[in-house]
Amino acid sequence: MRTQVGIVGGGPAGLLLARLLGLAGIEAIVLERRTPEYLRARIRAGLLEQGTVDLLNEIGVGARLNRERLIHDGVELAFDGQRRRIDLKALSGKSVTIYGQAEIQNDLMDAHEAAGTPIVYEAEDVSLHGLTGETPHLRYRKGGKQHDITCDFIAGCDGFHGVSREAIPPDVLRVYEKVYPFGWLGILSETPPVNHELIYNNHERGFALCTMRSLTRSRYYLQVSAEEDAAHWSDDRFWTELKGRLPPDVAAGLVTGPSIEKSVAPLRSFVAEPMRHGRLFLAGDAAHIVPPTGAKGLNLAAADVRFLAEALVAHYKTGNAQLLDGYSARCLARVWKAQRFSWWMTSLTHRFPDASPFERRAQAAELAYITSSKAGQTTLAENYVGLPFA
Ligand SMILES: Cc1cc2nc3c(=O)[nH]c(=O)nc-3n(C[C@H](O)[C@H](O)[C@H](O)COP(=O)(O)OP(=O)(O)OC[C@H]3O[C@@H](n4cnc5c(N)ncnc54)[C@H](O)[C@@H]3O)c2cc1C
Repeated sequence: MRTQVGIVGGGPAGLLLARLLGLAGIEAIVLERRTPEYLRARIRAGLLEQGTVDLLNEIGVGARLNRERLIHDGVELAFDGQRRRIDLKALSGKSVTIYGQAEIQNDLMDAHEAAGTPIVYEAEDVSLHGLTGETPHLRYRKGGKQHDITCDFIAGCDGFHGVSREAIPPDVLRVYEKVYPFGWLGILSETPPVNHELIYNNHERGFALCTMRSLTRSRYYLQVSAEEDAAHWSDDRFWTELKGRLPPDVAAGLVTGPSIEKSVAPLRSFVAEPMRHGRLFLAGDAAHIVPPTGAKGLNLAAADVRFLAEALVAHYKTGNAQLLDGYSARCLARVWKAQRFSWWMTSLTHRFPDASPFERRAQAAELAYITSSKAGQTTLAENYVGLPFA
């Protein structure tokens, strides 16, 4: 088999890229190791920057998003028994959108099915070869048979645990990483959200986040130890702990119900540089991970593939390789700003087990400053709604 762009991974990054390329008349084949049913049901992100919403509309998959999304003009920080609202819209001119990643995945898969994009699900043992030559190729197994695809370029969109990043020699790849001493225990329930906007709670028992996927589906998170096992948390235990961390007026309005998903996610900041090696281009979680506090992961993946698609289209339409050559630097400039913000939001809102009394006081002072100063609120707002595409 032969194609122009071989895409490893059929998550948001891979499917967005395949769509952008397909609309520009560039051939792509997507190799995905999971089943379509698994991908359609996978629960993850839920908060979209305007740039991501614009991209989904531009590629013709925004109809349901525009009907069903919730638009948030603000966000709350709760600490020391107080609630402080940051007016995102007034401070930055922009809002954020609530629309589940699972819904985006479904919308993209529906669009690809209608367009007949070749997506190979349950592709096993995908491997990448010849990356620094003229004809890189992908090898995989399906139904007991081995297949090879010769490509012009390969896009590694296979997430943090994929094989694409591993295909870059260790002496070429530089890795920057911070692992946090806690994780997030998340619960999804068919209950109305406790507040119409998100509430980030810094409490002495640990961080808690009140978020949502729709007006009838809530998502709550608790800071737990990184080794915590979700199986040790009954629904009752979760709700009791959450109520204990919320301001009393919020806790009083909390509607509880059976969980439909419960899991622990570790928190990590990670960047692999460069995002290009020969004819391989990394995009999304394959190249970088952020702690979910700033809700940047999916949005960064969307920004990467927008840049990558622009570069590939320029190459095929005009023969100009300048954007391909500049891809890694262009992405990383934005990635590092989102990394800084995600790390800062995490530092501001979580309780660090090894924090000294001095550090704890400094954190409390920073929360008070950020929420009371217009400059402080503005810096949070402009990063939270998403920095402009460079
Ligand atoms: C609890 C949680 C909450 C989050 N909240 C937010 C949020 O509010 N906002 C936000 O922007 N982000 C959020 N994120 C992050 C967001 O979910 C990710 O950044 C996003 O999924 C990245 O998309 P991706 O396509 O790069 O990678 P992935 O979604 O990981 O997709 C990679 C795909 O590649 C496939 N794959 C992996 N290995 C192989 C292989 N060897 N061969 C073939 N296929 C392979 C995988 O099956 C997967 O389908 C959150 C994440 C978590 C865990």
